[in-house]
Amino acid sequence: MTKHPRSEQLFERACRVIPGGVNSPVRAFKAVGGTPLFVQRGEGQHLIDADGRKYLDLVNSWGALILGHAHPAVVAAIVEMARSGTTFGAPCAGEVELAERIVGSYPGLEQVRFVSSGTEAVMSAIRVARACTGRDLIVKFSGCYHGHADHLLVAAGSGLATFGTPSSAGVPAAFTGCTRVLPLDDEAAVDELFSREGAQIAAVIIEPVPANHGLLLQRREFLQKLRDVTRKHGSLLIFDEVICGFRLARGGVAQLTGIVPDMATFGKVIGGGMPVGGFGGSREIMKRLAPLGDTYQAGTLSGNPVAMAAGITTLDIMIKESGWERLEQISAAVERALLPVCKDAPFPIHFVRAGSLFWMSFHDGAAPRTAASMSQQAVQRYSALFHAMLDRGVYLPPSAYEACFLSLAHTNADIEQLTRALRESLATLT
Ligand SMILES: *Cc1c(COP(=O)(O)O)cnc(C)c1O
Repeated sequence: MTKHPRSEQLFERACRVIPGGVNSPVRAFKAVGGTPLFVQRGEGQHLIDADGRKYLDLVNSWGALILGHAHPAVVAAIVEMARSGTTFGAPCAGEVELAERIVGSYPGLEQVRFVSSGTEAVMSAIRVARACTGRDLIVKFSGCYHGHADHLLVAAGSGLATFGTPSSAGVPAAFTGCTRVLPLDDEAAVDELFSREGAQIAAVIIEPVPANHGLLLQRREFLQKLRDVTRKHGSLLIFDEVICGFRLARGGVAQLTGIVPDMATFGKVIGGGMPVGGFGGSREIMKRLAPLGDTYQAGTLSGNPVAMAAGITTLDIMIKESGWERLEQISAAVERALLPVCKDAPFPIHFVRAGSLFWMSFHDGAAPRTAASMSQQAVQRYSALFHAMLDRGVYLPPSAYEACFLSLAHTNADIEQLTRALRESLATLT
């Protein structure tokens, strides 16, 4: 393992004043071991760490950077806006412009409200869903992540429907008592739950392409089932498109599948690398929100002008430069290059892809569609691969359960570097 002295020094200092040295747990490299790299700067497809070493970045701030780091047009928009002020606590044109782009892109969406993170977006969407239906229960799926709001931090259940038990300390059981957890890919479990509690279910929330437990590709029929059952029982269907929205297609998974949810949540891509979340639905649903309705929701920095400028510029570049088509070409090329390398690996690796998201699954059997856990050996193999790749200048997500994110900044030369690094790294693992 290469030494990273500056990162090590910074991490030591960080650990004194920040719990675990990080402001979001996965950054701590707990799942792969070693010291997290402190990033000095990002340039296009690259990260440069505190020791001045350069890496091909396959995380892209967990998908927030669809154009890569520090895209000149995005930086220019940020700087220009910041010169006129960084927050007003009053409406600004940027909010209208970003909202128009989102509403104009996502099927069925008539209104959107901005917040500062995906967590807030989901939390607020659920509040609105509960207000609209006058019901309390929320259904989520094991393996789907919806941010860290109390009632969604619930242990992954498997098999039959399980009552929500908190998967974090500090979350009262009473809060998660209104959450039901189902396995993905299981229509019978959905039917069983709805036949028992359908009349109390406010909403079903799902990442329509679950990308927070590896990449668990769902059958279209399963999503259709959720659409049908929620309609039948008067519950709302919420697509959490915080990762997929504006990444897999301009209109997210709703566009790709033609299955239109009642509400959708956004984050990551729509902020162009700045803190933005959003949630939306029909006017009928969204009118429940204050100041029109009785459902309170607010934010000092919501609709932040600088963040709006970054989001608008990002979406405009994607739209004007055929971003989604180009991203698909890059991603398909990555698949063509890596698939044979994975096939030749000394142990099973399944290459799973949805657009610009891909996951090298280290499961022994076929790549799962549900939140199955990997063997200890598989997790150790991934850790070894992670460090071997880092030594070869490739920054993979620091966990076997996280997907890789591609951006428009990735080039054919990068794909060659990635392929070579993967082949060499796997050879060291035998
Ligand atoms: C990242 C993520 C969130 C939470 O967003 P934050 O901005 O980290 O709060 C919610 N849902 C999904 C699907 C996500 O991937």
